Amino acid sequence: MTDPDETGRVYLVGSGPGDPDLLTVKARRLLEDADVVLHDKLPGPDILGLIPEGKREDVGKRAGGDRTSQEYTNERLVELAREGKTVVRLKGGDPFVFGRGGEEAEYLAAHEVPFEVVPGVTSAVAGPAVAGIPVTHRDHASSVTFVTGHEDPTKDESAVDWHALAATGGTLVVLMGVGKLPEYTRELREAGMREDTPVALVERATWPDQRVATGTLADIVAVRDEAGISPPAITVIGPVAGTRERLLAFLANGADAAATGGEEVDGE
Ligand code: SAH
Repeated sequence: MTDPDETGRVYLVGSGPGDPDLLTVKARRLLEDADVVLHDKLPGPDILGLIPEGKREDVGKRAGGDRTSQEYTNERLVELAREGKTVVRLKGGDPFVFGRGGEEAEYLAAHEVPFEVVPGVTSAVAGPAVAGIPVTHRDHASSVTFVTGHEDPTKDESAVDWHALAATGGTLVVLMGVGKLPEYTRELREAGMREDTPVALVERATWPDQRVATGTLADIVAVRDEAGISPPAITVIGPVAGTRERLLAFLANGADAAATGGEEVDGE
């Protein structure tokens, strides 16, 4: 599909949470048709395994800081498109949910590179779902908030207002929230959220080694440490997290924390 006389096209593609069966039909087709696929580790080994070696370029975080890596990725996308290539930028989950897909789209637009956004199944919804946790529920949660846990909630200029979130009464789904779990659960408790609020950690949702660990706002840090939960994982906070217990006996794909964790992937 390469035509050096014409600028190619970049597809910002969501891979879904990791199970290849949760790729969209369009994503699957683009992985086959692309000249080159730029990816990081988040799509997971099964999906990355579908991409022929010769097409793959790993632009994941590397020593030297992720800022450098993001600039490199942006420039590489433009460079390949200007060579006339059909380029897939494959991102875990949905490309516009905490994946810097928005920044990449802005960069492409600023450099006059045609691009398309191909939505994916976000781990923010799919992670809880496969663990038996509906993010909304008529009896338990009328709203859901997706929030990054990566920030230090105690820093002065924090963009996330945990006290305000505690007051919503809805479900909180925290991405990149393994490392800072002690800090933001403390903030929520200080803001008056009940100590017995159910919390679940869903590690590597839909990957073959998926694990789920559950507790309460009061003990989830100990649960995390005991199970050795590592990124990538989703934290679900709210009454809906208790639904899992009622479904577990008949939930075919909601494995529990038991085995030890694998290699950390997204490094938060
Ligand atoms: N665009 C992605 C999110 C990227 S931010 C999406 O829509 O899913 C990276 C964070 O996503 C991780 O720290 C983790 O919180 C979450 N994540 C992505 N894939 C995951 C998976 N398979 N299981 C659990 N968490 C996942």
